[in-house]
Amino acid sequence: MSNFVFLGPPGSGKGTQAKILADKLNVPHIAMGDILREEVRRKTPLGVKVENILKEGKLVPDSVTQELAKMRLSGPDCKKGFIFDGFPRTLPQAEALEGILKDLGKKVDKVIYFSLPLDLVVERLSLRRSCKSCGAVYHKTNKPPKEAGKCDICGGELYQRHDDEEEVIKNRFEVYLKQTEPLIDHYKNMNVLVQVGASRKIEEVSDEMSKLLNL
Ligand code: AMP
Repeated sequence: MSNFVFLGPPGSGKGTQAKILADKLNVPHIAMGDILREEVRRKTPLGVKVENILKEGKLVPDSVTQELAKMRLSGPDCKKGFIFDGFPRTLPQAEALEGILKDLGKKVDKVIYFSLPLDLVVERLSLRRSCKSCGAVYHKTNKPPKEAGKCDICGGELYQRHDDEEEVIKNRFEVYLKQTEPLIDHYKNMNVLVQVGASRKIEEVSDEMSKLLNL
């Protein structure tokens, strides 16, 4: 089964790699950050509640993400597998995920951990631009759009996420170290962790990932 969790600091490229693998395996790519940003964009009651938390680069309450994860994973498109990007991010979330999957008769098959040092996190995120309409991600030098400021996929306007501004990036990395890094040992102990060095080019990282997953 292809029930994968992608773990790593912000800017490690896990979203980009998740998309590549999801297309290859024909399973959904579920990004918790995208789900939350969509709630904010639509100004739903949940979106209004979490908007400032996202802006500051803090984590939204576990109860919120757990509910969203449960709803999403129950979808029929997850029957063949899924790639969960950005969830879990805390130990209680990891435990909740195990419970949700158990109820669905599933388990986490592999957790792919993308490792990247802080200086590269800052470099990557501060040059990252995202599409306002479809959420596609670009990088000013590593993955520029064909036409400046415009999304290759949908033609939408590219912008810098507020939480990709330099003062928020450091905050997000600290949150990651404190709250999310403990998951590495958790998944090591479960014997499902696969580590991929994320500082290389997109194609090199995806080649290594496929090799390590025997795909
Ligand atoms: P991302 O797009 O993965 O960088 O996530 C953007 C923001 O969404 C994070 O900085 C958090 O504010 C929020 N977020 C995403 N995933 C989670 C999660 N699993 N738990 C709590 N907050 C999350």
